[in-house]
Amino acid sequence: MNTRSQVTTWEPSDAAIAERYGLRAEEILRFDLNTSPWPSPALPEALAGPFDPPLNEYPDSYYADLTDAAAAYTGVEPDEVVVGAGADEVIDLVAKAFLPAGSAAIVPIPTYSMYGVFTTHRAARIVPVARLSAEHGFGLDVPAMIAALPEVSVVWLCNPNNPTGAADATDDVRAILAAAGELPKPPLVVVDEAYHEFSRTSVVGWRQEFPNLLTIRTMSKAFALAGIRVGYGAAHRSVIEKLERVRPPGSISTVSSHIATAALRSPDYAAANVEALTIEREWLATELAARGWHSTPSICNFLLVRIGDNAAAEAAAEALLRSGIVPRTFGPANPLRGHLRITVRSRPENERLLTAVERLSA
Ligand code: PMP
Repeated sequence: MNTRSQVTTWEPSDAAIAERYGLRAEEILRFDLNTSPWPSPALPEALAGPFDPPLNEYPDSYYADLTDAAAAYTGVEPDEVVVGAGADEVIDLVAKAFLPAGSAAIVPIPTYSMYGVFTTHRAARIVPVARLSAEHGFGLDVPAMIAALPEVSVVWLCNPNNPTGAADATDDVRAILAAAGELPKPPLVVVDEAYHEFSRTSVVGWRQEFPNLLTIRTMSKAFALAGIRVGYGAAHRSVIEKLERVRPPGSISTVSSHIATAALRSPDYAAANVEALTIEREWLATELAARGWHSTPSICNFLLVRIGDNAAAEAAAEALLRSGIVPRTFGPANPLRGHLRITVRSRPENERLLTAVERLSA
């Protein structure tokens, strides 16, 4: 496989990592992407088709079946939903529709990196607002965020937050929405609920009270369908209309939309997956702690582990990589520079991680 042409913008492929560490691609285990270790049971039947429209034709540009299924699952009306090729495309649609060049967006730090990426793609400015310390559960600095609201067009919130794994206080999110709503030109407040199925809480029910609120969801986490690239957003119709104006007509394949529709109509698997991964997360956190790797409390399918300073975290990551284990690192400028983020995987895979951690501290 050609790995030489890969640019460094995104996570390297299994093949590129294997080549670098003299391993086989099959030996690489991704603990850096927060995906599910088990495939969705919706897949075999959904992949068998038949597809409507058939695959020699373009997809339905309005993705009516997928939109209906997402609306029913989320408890909103179909015209309160926008679909995208992953939650990432919905984030991109927000940047396209709400962040003209020269505008600004609040990004609480640390958080999911793509808010900053898509904001800068549009030549908009990031207004970073530091989250509180680990001792304060990485909570939102509400007064600082409210102070910054008048200068921005978008507020990016992630709840529960990736990469800290903690939920924001409902009152904090509400206070920010209320303050934004009082401004002459209320900014759009995005609440990315990619890990909603793990937290079992949502602000989607607030969309009438706060017409400047957009909730984002994904099929990539609890639904175990990261490879099909489907996500969606739910909001007051006025927000959806603006996003629909910049949405490309065919970014989700017919196959992907068919699989996502089937999965959303049978969400029991996502719930069971969450249950299994929650048990596994607590087990893994305990086992890691027994080996001196302490994580902050997480309600998601990943753990944030405090290693030491940035050099120590990088050295630990390098040692894991030599065993084919890929953790998520944070650059030296990130407040989490001394941490690794580790996805909760299956028991045998987690055991491989633990063996590698033991080897490293031996
Ligand atoms: N939002 C958050 C908070 C995420 O962690 C991720 C994936 N890591 C995404 C969005 C992107 O999801 P998708 O795969 O649907 O593009």
